[in-house]
Amino acid sequence: MPFARLMHPASLLRIRTARQRLARQVTMKAMTSPVRHLPGASALVLDSPHSGTVYPADFSHACEFRVLRRAEDTHVEKLYDFAPGLGVHWIEALFPRSYLDVNRDTTEIDVELFDEEWPGPVATDPTVLSKVRLGKGLVWRTTDEGVPIYQRKLSVAEVQARIAQCWQPYHAAVARAIDTAHAQHGYSIHINCHSMPAVASSYSTDFPGEEHADFVVGNRDETTSSPALGMLVCEHLRELGYSVAYNHPYKGVELVRRYADPDAHRHSIQLEINRKLYMNEETLEPGDGFDALKANLRSLTERLLHTDPRLL
Ligand SMILES: [Zn+2]
Repeated sequence: MPFARLMHPASLLRIRTARQRLARQVTMKAMTSPVRHLPGASALVLDSPHSGTVYPADFSHACEFRVLRRAEDTHVEKLYDFAPGLGVHWIEALFPRSYLDVNRDTTEIDVELFDEEWPGPVATDPTVLSKVRLGKGLVWRTTDEGVPIYQRKLSVAEVQARIAQCWQPYHAAVARAIDTAHAQHGYSIHINCHSMPAVASSYSTDFPGEEHADFVVGNRDETTSSPALGMLVCEHLRELGYSVAYNHPYKGVELVRRYADPDAHRHSIQLEINRKLYMNEETLEPGDGFDALKANLRSLTERLLHTDPRLL
């Protein structure tokens, strides 16, 4: 009789769960680390939470890969690849946003994803829930076009594993970088780097169909950075010839909310770049404007490296 047949069913379950856990670890190991963190020496911290393109083997999505990729902030990490060389702290997610969105709190759980009860706390705030209703919680239910990502229910264990392997190391790295910058300089400037489609799709914001400006600067209505620093970023970009919107339709989400404390000189700003400035949104190929945009982002970065927000 095979050894397993002599075992109590509960032990078999434990073995099976351990095996599944091992399989997940191997998957994530193949990614080396799911987070790239390059520590810097300046007061400036940049993070790119949505540009990851390493799709884990245990994702098991049902929608077309081509459709899923449109959820990425494709190439954002390349637009800023000069930054670590300038002494900027850099954090980048290598896993895709559609697998786990680190720009959400772990309570932003879409309970419809599961066929079992989520054991942790679940957000009840109506503003937070509007994102979940759009299918855009911590783990997305639908793409920006409203296409369902899965044709199966997820297990609580697999989402808990995504939190442990992606969310926790990402947030630990951002927190560490900001704390280090602040401790060394007495202030920190955190820029949370994103890109957005030229036109808002139907399930991406509460303003579907809206044509976006070249940049959207968000500081959650001047609660995550000083108004002066928010304006400095807007004005610098306008002087470079761009159209800039301020706190509309994107105000900034969890990554700026969680780490900002402007009164303690910890400033966080979300910066959304219009993808039409640097890429073809259909093919995802970089476009003609890529190098010019990158040079202008370098100009903004250098300006921020020479800005002490306590003196503004
Ligand atoms: Zn983004």
